[in-house]
Amino acid sequence: MLNAGSNLPDSSPYIPPTPKTGLPLWLLAELTYRCPLQCPYCSNPLDFAAQGQELTTEQWFKVMREAREMGAAQIGFSGGEPLVRQDLAELIAEARRLGYYTNLITSGIGLTEQKIVDFKKAGLDHIQISFQASDEQVNNMLAGSKKAFAQKLEMARAVKAHGYPMVLNFVTHRHNIDKIDRIIELCIALEADFVELATCQFYGWAHLNRVGLLPTREQLVNAERVTNEYRAKLAAEDHPCKLIFVTPDYYEERPKACMNGWGSVFLTVTPDGTALPCHGARQMPIQFPNVREHSMQHIWYDSFGFNRFRGYDWMPEPCRSCDEKEKDFGGCRCQAFMLTGDASNADPVCGKSHHHGMIIQAREEAEYADQTIEQLAFRNERNSRLIIKS
Ligand code: SF4
Ligand code: SF4
Repeated sequence: MLNAGSNLPDSSPYIPPTPKTGLPLWLLAELTYRCPLQCPYCSNPLDFAAQGQELTTEQWFKVMREAREMGAAQIGFSGGEPLVRQDLAELIAEARRLGYYTNLITSGIGLTEQKIVDFKKAGLDHIQISFQASDEQVNNMLAGSKKAFAQKLEMARAVKAHGYPMVLNFVTHRHNIDKIDRIIELCIALEADFVELATCQFYGWAHLNRVGLLPTREQLVNAERVTNEYRAKLAAEDHPCKLIFVTPDYYEERPKACMNGWGSVFLTVTPDGTALPCHGARQMPIQFPNVREHSMQHIWYDSFGFNRFRGYDWMPEPCRSCDEKEKDFGGCRCQAFMLTGDASNADPVCGKSHHHGMIIQAREEAEYADQTIEQLAFRNERNSRLIIKS
């Protein structure tokens, strides 16, 4: 391909450079939608109960091998709950053999000390355990399991005892964010290396439950202040624990650079082999390719789904002529689709979007919302089937 740097004779027409497709550096392997917990903010699709058969071990090996040959460097094993896959240690070992940096993203339910040892032998680099709250009762209510909190505590301790770097992840929302000081204290006591305090992002079940989950601006400001106080205290003590605070984009005036751009770095493979540029993209009316039928090379470089929102030519106004489009790529395609019905619209989080009023309305609703935890729609097979029927 010719580009501006080519050694062309003076009379040759100038051909502008086309943005190059990046490498799929990050592979997210969603091994299963099965999960013993029922978090009402789960990002899995609402119709997960109707998804097809899971990929086999051999099919995952092929996915990992092909993606690695294309430059993938990190792999995350997630779900659902990846621990329900009996072949998890085998998958980790193969990923390690191929040269990936390997991450396990788990609720900790189903983890045992023996598995921690086996995964270490298989070459697992990193474990992330998610908690629902710092308070046992609230944690268990949100998880839909009476034993979840105690199991998570025990496994977090075991993970550290076996020398892994550990990330603890708390999804925060209006029912737990006021206890952020206790959450941080718990993480320090558990010797977490990183703590992700991630305010709920509104996809999947979280979108369905948005009114009952979105914190108020006051709650958010307070939580960020407390986090910053802890950051300063930890830094003064030269403490190794790092706090990462993720604000919900609903309180921003510009959208996030979602996935660092569509089909730019991230490649998700869902349990049935559907390949997605973002784990929330499944809901879009786009026929995404499946790893059972296509090579990863074809999926990443040539498939319609992965090329649909690459570059800038697909953008309508106001993004098309916006001087910030190279910063945020127009925001999140899934959010644009969920809120406006058209995935090529500007993300409504943006103050320049014609649909930004929807975000302002959601913020206003958060001021008056009175839904209890019990009134949220929990992510389980029964509710998924009811949603599919309706
Ligand atoms: S968010 Fe909760 S319900 Fe969803 S996969 Fe994770 S642990 Fe399971
Ligand atoms: S108009 Fe589009 S490109 Fe410009 S800041 Fe908003 S979302 Fe980003």
